[in-house]
Amino acid sequence: MRNILSSEPLHDPTASPTPGATTEIKCTTCYMCACRCGIRVHLREGDNGPEVRYIDGNPNHPLNKGVICAKGSSGIMKQISPARLTQPLLRKPGSERGAGEFEPISWERAFDLLTERLARIRATDPKKFALFTGRDQMQALTGLFARQFGTPNYAAHGGFCSVNMAAGMIYTVGGSFWEFGGPDLDRAKLFVMIGTAEDHHSNPMKIAISKFKRDGGRFISINPVRTGYSAIADEWIPIRPGTDGALLMALLHELITTDQIDHAFLKRFTNAPQLVVLDDCEREGLFAFDPDPARGAPGDGRNPHNKLVWDTASGTVKNAYPEGIADGCDPALEGHYTLADGTRVAPSFQLLRDRVATCTPEWASAITGIAASRIRQLAHELGHAAFQQAFELPIAWTDAWGKQHPSTQARPVAFHAMRGLAAHSNGFQTVRALAVLMSVLGTIDAPGGFRHKAPYPRHIVPNYRAFNAPEMIQPNTPLNAAPLGFPAHPDELAINTDGSPIRIDHAFSWEHPLSAHGMMHNVITNAVKGDPYRIDTLLLFMANMAWNSTMNTLGVREMLNRKDGSGEYMIPFLVVCDAFQSETVAFADLVLPDTTYLERHDVMGMLDRPISEFEGPVDSVRVPVVKPLGQCKPFQEVLIELASRLKFPAFTTPDGGRKFTGYPDFVVNFQPQPGIGFLMGWRGKDGTEHLRGEPNPKQWEMYEKNDCVFQYHMPENTHFMRNWNRAYLDFAKEKGWRQKDDPIQLALYSDTLQSFRLAAQGKSGGRQPPEELRERIATYFDPLPFWYAPLEETATDLAAYPLNAITQRPMAMYHSWDSQNAWLRQIHSHNYLHVNPVTARAAGIEDGGWCWVESQWGQVRCMLRYSEAVEPGTVWTWNAIGKADGAWQLAPGADEARKGFLLNHLISEELPFPLDGAKGGRTISNSDPITGQAGWYDVRVRIRPAAPDEEHVSFPQMASMPSAPGVLGRVSSVLTYFAGRKTS
Ligand code: SF4
Repeated sequence: MRNILSSEPLHDPTASPTPGATTEIKCTTCYMCACRCGIRVHLREGDNGPEVRYIDGNPNHPLNKGVICAKGSSGIMKQISPARLTQPLLRKPGSERGAGEFEPISWERAFDLLTERLARIRATDPKKFALFTGRDQMQALTGLFARQFGTPNYAAHGGFCSVNMAAGMIYTVGGSFWEFGGPDLDRAKLFVMIGTAEDHHSNPMKIAISKFKRDGGRFISINPVRTGYSAIADEWIPIRPGTDGALLMALLHELITTDQIDHAFLKRFTNAPQLVVLDDCEREGLFAFDPDPARGAPGDGRNPHNKLVWDTASGTVKNAYPEGIADGCDPALEGHYTLADGTRVAPSFQLLRDRVATCTPEWASAITGIAASRIRQLAHELGHAAFQQAFELPIAWTDAWGKQHPSTQARPVAFHAMRGLAAHSNGFQTVRALAVLMSVLGTIDAPGGFRHKAPYPRHIVPNYRAFNAPEMIQPNTPLNAAPLGFPAHPDELAINTDGSPIRIDHAFSWEHPLSAHGMMHNVITNAVKGDPYRIDTLLLFMANMAWNSTMNTLGVREMLNRKDGSGEYMIPFLVVCDAFQSETVAFADLVLPDTTYLERHDVMGMLDRPISEFEGPVDSVRVPVVKPLGQCKPFQEVLIELASRLKFPAFTTPDGGRKFTGYPDFVVNFQPQPGIGFLMGWRGKDGTEHLRGEPNPKQWEMYEKNDCVFQYHMPENTHFMRNWNRAYLDFAKEKGWRQKDDPIQLALYSDTLQSFRLAAQGKSGGRQPPEELRERIATYFDPLPFWYAPLEETATDLAAYPLNAITQRPMAMYHSWDSQNAWLRQIHSHNYLHVNPVTARAAGIEDGGWCWVESQWGQVRCMLRYSEAVEPGTVWTWNAIGKADGAWQLAPGADEARKGFLLNHLISEELPFPLDGAKGGRTISNSDPITGQAGWYDVRVRIRPAAPDEEHVSFPQMASMPSAPGVLGRVSSVLTYFAGRKTS
């Protein structure tokens, strides 16, 4: 027996298993989470060619500068995960979905099956094919595939992730957090993080906070739970879930009533001074406009420059653009006025002032649980940082109207927010409140505040209309617009003439008009209900819809198995593409084995989700550093192959031949507009052009030679104030990032929202919502931010279910991706319900004890841990640690299945409609009524101790999943990987 206490190592972990073999280092981009750090993969010779020896951060990469996290360095264990699928699989004839009984088939047969089926759908009724993808980063390709197929039924996972954050910010300031913008911690003095634990922008955020703290910055975290970044915050302010909007409205109240606002910024760069019609008419609540047709038609949300302001200097009305901001004009921010034609108007800021008048700190205190005095003090701290600690950078710039600014004004108070604000049914208006708060402080794209990243800022509303023409769904015909976009008016909704939804997920319908990312969380439920129609084939990529990526997990698993009267599944054909044997794989009719991020080409580019920095655009790629395992094939190659076989126009030559040899060829040569491609670096025939230029056949080689990343440094005079910066706006238009070069005035007041409200009130002509939805739209489509209780609360007995329940993502795992990872499992193999000791003791549950958590929708049994780092009205757990038995090739009885649990079992994907169930029968998505964002964090629960004689096993338990044929397995090889031992 070995002496395990010996100082002699059991083996040399750095030694090559093949004596004398050389090692090699290849750069690529991490995908152990969505952050996309640059990594160096160190390779050694293995039995079947190069294999991964270890992974470290790339010091030359602009994003992470060499920093790597626990997940990133554990990529090696993902590569050799026992859960790797290795061959295409077809459900065995006669076996039931969910049983996981498959037979291996060849790729040729898989492609034949898919081509035959998809060709038939495309030639008859293309909308019967639905493509929904999970945490992928290739929506430029998947969206193009759906559009070319001719189906509107496409989306990625944003609708159940953080569309409220994206849409709430973009509809207000033209950009959003994470990849499209963030806090300027290099220059901020005060940093307020709200609703964020661990983040997508993981390593860069940690690097930035570390430097910020060392430089003496003050960091306040507002969150129901003190985890993640909050651990090093100078102060933690606990808040009740779903109440952030009330806090933000109270902060606005304090800042406005104490006059701690940036008047000059508001007057010149926002729609605060623009005059809103007050009369009861079809234009009530819209901006008054200059009727001169040369200034464009009013009210479409994309024509913000024909509005009016009241010039207090002359006592007259002037055009907001360009005359209203001419020297000598002083637009009013308050007051009530009458236009020459008798129309009563007021600056939109007056309406905001009226709105926040009653939102006192005392009012917010009763909602949030934060003392009124602390709210007041926080407002004072924000104002102090923005105005007393302000400074100017010696960077001259010229604004969109030609005015030269000799320096750039800093407002050193920065915010960061994410899913804690977004994942509520009141999240859109909460995020609007945050964006308005940042705007009144003058921090938008200012040094020390919130800064955009190219290709943002976009127009408000962005010039991307979602597909909305049911008559254009035609056999063998691409759609005339992308399936996803940003509606600016009811005319842009995806509805039929009778007002019913065009899409299977009901996105862009009157139920959830601004659902810019689709509503993946409702696809299976709606498809099974046949609401608004039944589909034939559902293709899921990287989406664990039979487990943690769905609300009502047990219900969805049952629905995937539900059959109609003829014995056919309600969703007749389910295709799942994944690299691992997830819970969802067991329900597939056809399984397509994907590659890992180390085995394929990938693009993180400007058409989709680049990794831009504040100072300029950045895109990056992944290149294969090891061979694909078994028969694994990148999903991108699957899509290119299918698109070619189905002869989509964009993938077919004029003579009917195949246009692209594969994904790398497609990336180099596909151009949505001349000179614009998937990658912006080393364009032009000889690779000397950047951002825009002809395709370069050697573009991939150039990326490989340059650490798989391209960074473009823009001149200093374009680094700030980009909503209005003439040099930047011209540059952005020239490079294809924007369609126009006009300024982007911040929309403190949203006439887009008001246009929906007017339709709901029956005051405007054109499209009208169904009667049953009028009140809902009139209520929530308020042009000014406001706080309302999460919708689920209205449908809940709050006395019976007094606690909020939320999840957080651990730093060491990303969603359900990492429970098969031999290293990361050692950090989290099961989860607890974390409860404040006061709450747990009151319920009679001891630290470490077993308990029941119950909502009105379901119940789970789990272990409980006392924690002082959670406010007493909230319980929480880590997301997606719990697993179905046997899934991800975990051994039967593994801790993840027996002790781990999912909070999803307590959540419903639907709510009664109306919410009080008064009329009964109808349901509606459990989502934000504006954007369709899933209301994950709205659920209310109660807790009680498990009985002493109950099994110490989490509830519910699933029947054990069998191994899929060809799955890698071989756990022993994982354990001895570094020893290089040969094992069976
Ligand atoms: S934060 Fe970690 S897991 Fe995410 S991309 Fe960076 S190194 Fe990879």
